Amino acid sequence: MHERTGILLVVSGPSGSGKTTLCRRLAADKAAHYSISCTTRQPRPGEIADLDYHFLSGELFAARVAAGDFLEYALVHGNHYGTLRSEVLGFLDAGSDVVMDIDVQGAAQVRACADPAIQQALVDLFVMPPSDDELLARLTGRGTDSAATIALRMTNAIEEMRHWPSYTYRLLSATHEEDYARFKALLTAERLRVSRLAR
Ligand code: 5GP
Repeated sequence: MHERTGILLVVSGPSGSGKTTLCRRLAADKAAHYSISCTTRQPRPGEIADLDYHFLSGELFAARVAAGDFLEYALVHGNHYGTLRSEVLGFLDAGSDVVMDIDVQGAAQVRACADPAIQQALVDLFVMPPSDDELLARLTGRGTDSAATIALRMTNAIEEMRHWPSYTYRLLSATHEEDYARFKALLTAERLRVSRLAR
C-alpha cells in the first residue's frame, strides 16, 4: 500500500477571525501538527515560549533568515514572524498533517514555493469574521491589547481581508462549533484527494 504524505493546511485571516483557535484545537485533537512560528514580538500575558511561539530577538531572527531556516517570513503589525522549515517538512514526509497559522504575505510565499513536496501538500484557507462590527467586538473583547494596538489591528484586518480571493477555501466564521465542524470537514475531504498538484 502507498502511504500518504501529509497535508500542509495554511490558514490565514485577520486577528479576531478565530483562526488561531481553530488551528490550536486541531492540534489539541491530535489531527495535525501545529507549526510553532518564530516571532520578534513580546509574549502576551499567559503565552508560553516554544509552545505558542519561539520568541526571538531581532538579531537571532535575522541570523535564522540568513541561514535559510525559514520556509516563509514576513513583517506583520511591525514585528517579524516566520515558519521554520523544520516545523513543516519532516512532519509532511512522515505522513503527518501540518497546520500553519500565518498572514497573507506568508501564505503567498508558501504558494510560490517551488518545492514539489510543498505543492503536493498545500491547502490554503482564509477565515473571515462575519462582519466588521463583530470583528471589532472580538478584538476589543480579548482585553489583552491597548486601544492603539486594537486600532492598528482593525486597520490591518480590513486590509488583510482584501486578500481572500487568493485562497482556495474561505470559511465565514459563525460559532466556534460550526467553524470547527467545517474546518474538520475540509481536512477530511482533502485527505481523500488524490493530488493537489493540479490546482
Ligand atoms: P499574533 O501576534 O496576534 O499572534 O499574530 C499576528 C499575525 O501574525 C497573525 O495574522 C498570524 O497569523 C501571523 N503569523 C503568526 N505566525 C506567523 C508566521 O510564522 N509567518 C507569518 N507570515 N505570519 C505569522
